Amino acid sequence: MKVLAVLYNGFKAAIEEPRLLGTVENKLGMDKWLAARGHEFIVTSSKEGPNSDFEKHIVDAEVLITTPFHPGYLTRELMEKAQNLKICITAGVGSDHIDLNAAVDHKIQVLEVSGSNVTSVAEHAVMSMLLLVRNFVPAHEMIERGDWQVSEVARNAFDLEGKVIGTIGAGRIGYRIMQRLLPFNPKELLYYDYHEIPPEAESAVNCKRVGTVEELVSQCDIVTVNCPLHEGTRGMINDRLLSAFKPGAWLVNTARGAICDEQAVAKALARGQLRGYAGDVWNVQPAPKDHPWRTMKNPLGGGNGMVPHYSGTTLDAQARYASGTKTILENYLDGKPQAHQNIIVGAGKYETTSYGLH
Ligand code: NAD
Repeated sequence: MKVLAVLYNGFKAAIEEPRLLGTVENKLGMDKWLAARGHEFIVTSSKEGPNSDFEKHIVDAEVLITTPFHPGYLTRELMEKAQNLKICITAGVGSDHIDLNAAVDHKIQVLEVSGSNVTSVAEHAVMSMLLLVRNFVPAHEMIERGDWQVSEVARNAFDLEGKVIGTIGAGRIGYRIMQRLLPFNPKELLYYDYHEIPPEAESAVNCKRVGTVEELVSQCDIVTVNCPLHEGTRGMINDRLLSAFKPGAWLVNTARGAICDEQAVAKALARGQLRGYAGDVWNVQPAPKDHPWRTMKNPLGGGNGMVPHYSGTTLDAQARYASGTKTILENYLDGKPQAHQNIIVGAGKYETTSYGLH
């Protein structure tokens, strides 16, 4: 059986740090195990275009392992060529790089390691809020430059305390963010999700549900995006929705870059409609050198907290998603049932309502 994995290159770092399991070099720690079971294991980072290893090997692979950090995009067209493909496993959380509707039609299962990095992302989102609200990046850059001008950075620095903070999507990550924000004494925690949080969980973080995304953004000082990318959320944060934000709001997106319109966000930051934008996810990954989100700034020259896609790939998270990927694969090989929470697409149908109400 052929197992194909599309992972990111770790280069020198992955040789020096074997806990970088999600890399081409360290192969999710599964190469010896798969070889001992007699399976062929192809691991590559080459994923773009007809000459890529991905497109070459997908035609006869039975198992595809991908990661959101370096997504191999499995389109409907590629699925049609993938005659042997039975199961796609996302090493991590977020399977939008797989055409899920096509997977339903082709009866290809899609599973992810649910929960494996949700704490990692929630911590990153709270950190991103803090660094934007407190104007941290320009303050640090000033220090590296050798300057010292307190007023220049304090003029755009605030406290998290007393702010209205809202999440679009209140699943595993969105809820964990609210739990972590509570000790900062926000004025209000709001959420928009088509799923209601159970009353006891809602009162545990003292949050309130709002009926529409427009209503949410119009009330918030800080908005955080924590829903999957699917046909209902692609490009959701566009010029129109951004004009409904409170002027000078901060936006943190660690969900998926394509939920936000690239140009709309850059323009909203440049004119000060957004005071800051931070996150680790991009509409194209790796992001091109000239991607506007790399260098966009607010009118005072700050407000950019962008980093590469790594919030969910801390070494702690890699240990969890590598082990979870192995369990899913082992269940598949041994014909054992999969944990229901990991199944996105089962045999010909969606098993979750997180990717839209199908
Ligand atoms: P989850 O399934 O537990 O929660 C997602 C929630 O979003 C669900 O409650 C769902 O109802 C809600 N939702 C879906 N569509 C919505 C919409 N249109 N409006 C409002 N809410 C909507 O998932 P999770 O574990 O919290 O992860 C959420 C997403 O975060 C993942 O799908 C992935 O894209 C992203 N993620 C990013 C990283 C990273 O490293 N940056 C890591 C893990 C996950």
